[in-house]
Amino acid sequence: MLAQYGEDAGIYAGGTELLLAMKHQALHYRHLIDLKVVPGLGSIAVRNGSLEIGATSTHHSIERSGIVRQNQPALAEMESQVANVRVRSTGTLGGNLCFAEPHSDPATLLLVLAGTVKIESAAGAREIPVGELIGGAYASNLQPGEILTKITVPCAKPTHRSGYLKLQIHERPTLGLGLWLDTPDDGHTFTAARVAVGCVCPFPTRGLDAEKLLTGSRADVEKRLPQAADAMANAAELMDDHEGSAEYKRHLIEVFLRRVFRKALGEPAA
Ligand SMILES: Cc1cc2nc3c(=O)[nH]c(=O)nc-3n(C[C@H](O)[C@H](O)[C@H](O)COP(=O)(O)OP(=O)(O)OC[C@H]3O[C@@H](n4cnc5c(N)ncnc54)[C@H](O)[C@@H]3O)c2cc1C
Repeated sequence: MLAQYGEDAGIYAGGTELLLAMKHQALHYRHLIDLKVVPGLGSIAVRNGSLEIGATSTHHSIERSGIVRQNQPALAEMESQVANVRVRSTGTLGGNLCFAEPHSDPATLLLVLAGTVKIESAAGAREIPVGELIGGAYASNLQPGEILTKITVPCAKPTHRSGYLKLQIHERPTLGLGLWLDTPDDGHTFTAARVAVGCVCPFPTRGLDAEKLLTGSRADVEKRLPQAADAMANAAELMDDHEGSAEYKRHLIEVFLRRVFRKALGEPAA
């Protein structure tokens, strides 16, 4: 149908963003193609050590899924904090990622959990990291005729620690920060780290320099947390907007990196 109707048609999943954008005349389509009726696109399963989440799975179904809670608890917890129960019951993970709204949660955590997405069209299929799907604020890298069909997230292993924290003042989050650590000795040393920040910048951004500072002994990593936060703030294009100034967001990153580090290790975050 996408191939038949071209730019006259839009994909309709939960409609929570799409219908608002159409009401505000920001998007115009003569035809809406309802993805939720495609069989299998709302399924959640584990295959080959990874969670496979169909694109039309709602935030609520992911939050409540025993499979997700068991295999990637940080993802279930993050989903339980998206928006409100009405939006979570209708809005889908695929719709959230494709809309690329800067003040959203899932992509930031999926960056640190090494999530990938499957994209399909009449011409074939491709799989890319979540970071490559998002091209900028409200811009995905989907090509005409392409649909996101599946999100794949490696299952957590016993040596992995991860967490996500957000600050929400208004309707959409002001900041989201995700952290993933590999620790073979239960939190004494970290052999690998991934960290990402979202909402404070046009698109979720990994702090590659910060990640180097977050490996080593726990004592060293704790000393370097302010430096790592600074590196993250430098990597992100911090925005001045109604949520606060860029300087305020730099400060928030430092506070939330410290908190999420403790949370990932199962300690009180504050
Ligand atoms: C009041 C409110 C509060 C919110 N708060 C938060 C929050 O705290 N955190 C957060 O992360 N998000 C928040 N959101 C955003 C919410 O998560 C998204 O609205 C929802 O996940 C989008 O999914 P959807 O299925 O409704 O997408 P739709 O509105 O159906 O689609 C969104 C866009 O993506 C395209 N699309 C959808 N699915 C696909 C697909 N599979 N393949 C290709 N293109 C597709 C559509 O064509 C459209 O352009 C909030 C939204 C509202 C209205």
